[in-house]
Amino acid sequence: MGREELLQDELNRNRATIEIVKLLGTDEGFETIVSEAFRIMGEYLGVTNIHLLKLKSDRKGFALITEWVSEKGVSVADVVSGENSLTCCDDCCAIDSMRIINPGEILEGFEGFFSMTDVKACIVIPLQINGVSEMIINVCHNADDYKWSESAIQFLSAAGQIIQSILSRRLSKNSMIRSFAALKEIIDNSTNGVIVLDKDNKEILLANRVMQDHFELTGENASKWYEFYDENIRRPGLEESLFEQVIEYYSQSYKIWFELTFRELVWVDGRKVILCIAKDVTAQKKYQEKIEQQANNDFLTGLYNRMRCEADIAVAVRDAERSRGTGLIMFIDLDDFKNINDVLGHRFGDLLLQKIAKGLTDIDGIQNSCYRLGGDEFIVLVTYDQYIKVNSILASVVKLFNTPWDLEGTEYYSTMSMGVVRFPEEGWDVNELIKKADIAMYGAKRNGKNQYQFYNSGTEVSTLKRLDIERNMRKAVSAGCEEFLPYVQPIINIDTKECIGGEVLVRWDNPEMGFLMPGEFLPLAESLGLIVDIGDKILNNTCKTLEKWERKGRNNVVMHVNLSSVQMLQNNIVDKVEKCISKYKFNPGNLVLEIRENLTLHDIERVRRIVRDLKALGVKIALDDFGTGYSSLSYVKDMAFDIIKVGQSFVQDIVDSEYAKTFVRFIAEISETINAGVCIEGVETSEQCDLLEKLGISVIQGYYFGHPMPIKEFEKRFLKCDGCKIL
Ligand code: C2E
Ligand code: CA
Repeated sequence: MGREELLQDELNRNRATIEIVKLLGTDEGFETIVSEAFRIMGEYLGVTNIHLLKLKSDRKGFALITEWVSEKGVSVADVVSGENSLTCCDDCCAIDSMRIINPGEILEGFEGFFSMTDVKACIVIPLQINGVSEMIINVCHNADDYKWSESAIQFLSAAGQIIQSILSRRLSKNSMIRSFAALKEIIDNSTNGVIVLDKDNKEILLANRVMQDHFELTGENASKWYEFYDENIRRPGLEESLFEQVIEYYSQSYKIWFELTFRELVWVDGRKVILCIAKDVTAQKKYQEKIEQQANNDFLTGLYNRMRCEADIAVAVRDAERSRGTGLIMFIDLDDFKNINDVLGHRFGDLLLQKIAKGLTDIDGIQNSCYRLGGDEFIVLVTYDQYIKVNSILASVVKLFNTPWDLEGTEYYSTMSMGVVRFPEEGWDVNELIKKADIAMYGAKRNGKNQYQFYNSGTEVSTLKRLDIERNMRKAVSAGCEEFLPYVQPIINIDTKECIGGEVLVRWDNPEMGFLMPGEFLPLAESLGLIVDIGDKILNNTCKTLEKWERKGRNNVVMHVNLSSVQMLQNNIVDKVEKCISKYKFNPGNLVLEIRENLTLHDIERVRRIVRDLKALGVKIALDDFGTGYSSLSYVKDMAFDIIKVGQSFVQDIVDSEYAKTFVRFIAEISETINAGVCIEGVETSEQCDLLEKLGISVIQGYYFGHPMPIKEFEKRFLKCDGCKIL
């Protein structure tokens, strides 16, 4: 080769090398690039054939990937990829460096290849993937006398390196793409929603199936996501740092709770992205809510329970203080719930509690602040922002309990006593406030029930005593009720001026607390159920006294005994009275059982039956304190009461009030028609007594004739001589 030829060759080689180097920058597929490189290489070298072979996965034999064939050459495709491909090369994986074969030389393992093709010389360049030879470039010549020049070898070595580097780059990009595709696949099948947002362009880079199912992911939505992220997550000053934050999000449209984990990270292509993983936590949330509900709610009524009540009061007190407002706690206790449970059964009791809960939560202003503390105790909280409605709330609560409850078709009255306390005026501490409302509630009970009372420190003193009363009462009852004394107040016939008998009124003489009047301990005895034992004792004692008197010839003395509604509604009240009658020998017609008017409405049918059965025993039944309660004369007639006792309130007014006069006259006139006697209570003056006589009343009871007194004194003063004549 002459000097000029050498220069030309060098020029051609440089041009070819540059062309191959240029291929490094193209984005074409690997095969296309390699084909182009082969063309450049082949034309420059003037070889007959260049092909790229890939080792098969069993590493026995090659597969042809691409081939360049010159005009003079023949394709080797059939030989390397055809039926006999295995015999064309036996030990093909042995090549790990460039091999130069000149005519006459043999390449180990490629004996078959040479015999099956007319290739005479070749240069084999291995290409490596991850450090292992996986492909070969085979540059072939079919001239018997071809000899590889130094420059051709150098050129091919360089070209081989370029192709290797193209391959390596493609491979890393490819594997990244492949692994990213696999990642996407995994992400898509994940039960969690995944979304990736470009932090700067606000575009969605990736959103998996779950995400697409649950959120409408349009371009518009992407910005919504970004806004959401911006408002809820990104905090000023933290933009640059990568962080992770978890928030809970409720999807209104899908009714699903999501736990969204936001993370800022660098994406595969180097972009800053926001990755959000949305985990459906609805089931977990529901479970949590159920637990919270159980912790906060009363199972029976659905109202909040004591725990929640205390928490809410704490907040309400703080809010009221902060806004310089006032709030209110109403402590409600039913007046005779125990009876309803004992007598009508728990099913009715439960029903009543549910009705009350519903009634309370229907009242405007307290829908969300009614609580059941347990048993028959309720609390209503009026927060400072509802305080303007306080009067209407109070009125509505009172009205609720003054209306009969419809329990499975029957109407029942269940009144309540309520204590009211204001905050923060009366205190800040939750327990202190509840205690004060409770104290006021007991004040209302003591005052005769069916009313409400505001807390004032005066009530507290008397209620602190209440705990002593309870303790001592339990003691006294378990010791046989000896401390409960039957006092008797005379009942007088003003026509004959004779004492026809008396009413037994209990007193409690306690060594620790002294002498107590019924008003001081009976309401508590009723609510504790101890009234049953006390009442039994009084009844027995009275029957015993009647027997004694009768034995002594006083068989015309009538004794009135009060029956509390708790006793009256006991299942065995008739049996009890019957036992007393048979145990003590006396005329049952001399025993009058006084029942309260409000009782009759509890269950008209039931009371009617009991009254009938009691009357069948021969005892008489009086309707106590008539005119102050709910009953009407038609009930009185229906019940066939033997005696109607008119409450003291009428007597107090009788001198001045025309209405009271008319009422008393009416009662006197009608009593004959309904075949009942009338007894006017609370007569204190001669003036009242005279007026009553004029109005046609004969039977009277009151301080004017005598205060309640011990039986012994009564016997002495009113039963001493024949007929107990009054002086
Ligand atoms: P009550 O059945 O209405 O009894 C009449 C009450 O009026 C008695 O009060 C009596 O002392 C009082 N009183 C009588 N005359 C006059 C008067 O002229 N003026 C005034 N202001 N009051 C008069 P007490 O003894 O305090 O009894 C209160 C209530 O306690 C009774 O009201 C009765 O409902 C109940 N109670 C008394 N003893 C018993 C009992 O053994 N069993 C039951 N279940 N209740 C009883
Ligand atoms: Ca009475």
